[in-house]
Amino acid sequence: MEISLVAEDKEHQAIDKSLHKAPTLPFSNSCVSFQKENAIQEVEPRPPHEALFLVLVYLPLFELLAMSEVCVSLRDAVHKDVLPWLNIIVQRPLSLRLSDEILMKITSKANGRLKTLALMNCLRITDDGLQSVIDTNHHINKLYIPGCTGLTPEGVIRAVKTLSEHHSLKSLRINGVYNIKREDLETLRAYFQMNLSQKEQQRQQLIPFKYRNSPVFRNDESDPMIDVDICPKCNDVRMVHECPRDTCKRKEELVSMACRGCNLCIPRCEQCGRCTLQSEEVEETGCGDTLCSECWLQLPKCNFCNRPYCTQHNNRQYRDSSSSGFVCDTCREIY
Ligand SMILES: [Zn+2]
Ligand SMILES: [Zn+2]
Ligand SMILES: [Zn+2]
Ligand SMILES: [Zn+2]
Ligand SMILES: [Zn+2]
Repeated sequence: MEISLVAEDKEHQAIDKSLHKAPTLPFSNSCVSFQKENAIQEVEPRPPHEALFLVLVYLPLFELLAMSEVCVSLRDAVHKDVLPWLNIIVQRPLSLRLSDEILMKITSKANGRLKTLALMNCLRITDDGLQSVIDTNHHINKLYIPGCTGLTPEGVIRAVKTLSEHHSLKSLRINGVYNIKREDLETLRAYFQMNLSQKEQQRQQLIPFKYRNSPVFRNDESDPMIDVDICPKCNDVRMVHECPRDTCKRKEELVSMACRGCNLCIPRCEQCGRCTLQSEEVEETGCGDTLCSECWLQLPKCNFCNRPYCTQHNNRQYRDSSSSGFVCDTCREIY
């Protein structure tokens, strides 16, 4: 755990350096070759292979920034080319460090042509920071700001209003922005309706359960226009899911009985999304999420406590080459 934190901190330092236009490596414009015994040896300076420049457009932001540190020609390619900057997706580990100022710097590279702005759990972004980006980029069609707790409903509405004036916005994610009320959601929907065709408005309104609270960006054209809805059980604005359980689906016609609601109103198996209210025993996991028996049986278990991790948390498995299987966080501390 400590090791990963240290590694993450190093990554943060790298980002800061890159964003503040740190000088490139001392052997600028040269390449480095790795020999079999891992010794690093300097060779004659040569420009990077041409194919590398084609790859830049497809790189995630963190890797793109890292590339700009490799040598002068890559740095110039990254900073001068507009294409790699049209879809900006900020997720961990960058999200924790992203400030309004850095966001402005990154987005300015798109020269007003930004199409996707996805800020996943970027806690430090404020309403004004977001609005400055929106004011200079009127063609954003995907605005994803889930878990950006520094934003307010007013700030989100202001941003969406600006984009709706330019008819660009197609999809909005705001789950995790605090204090969004029913009226706010209705205002947001009204701005959307100005933009979308009848067909687009009929797009499926529920977000697939497998994506709930996911801090990772995904690009899915079948996504709903807005990722939150009014929960029919508690009337709060949250992510609302339908139940994939067959017996629940049959009750869907009777709205009063439908197993449809937010995560607080209807506890669900983390893995498959089936409700666990009236069902079989709920099983324990190493990550604290609950699973239905069926999903529990299928997942690999910790060698000591026999508890599985759900798929979302299986990066917490500790594996050791001397044995098969894995050990969970808790057991690793004890044994
Ligand atoms: Zn609810
Ligand atoms: Zn399940
Ligand atoms: Zn159900
Ligand atoms: Zn364990
Ligand atoms: Zn889990």
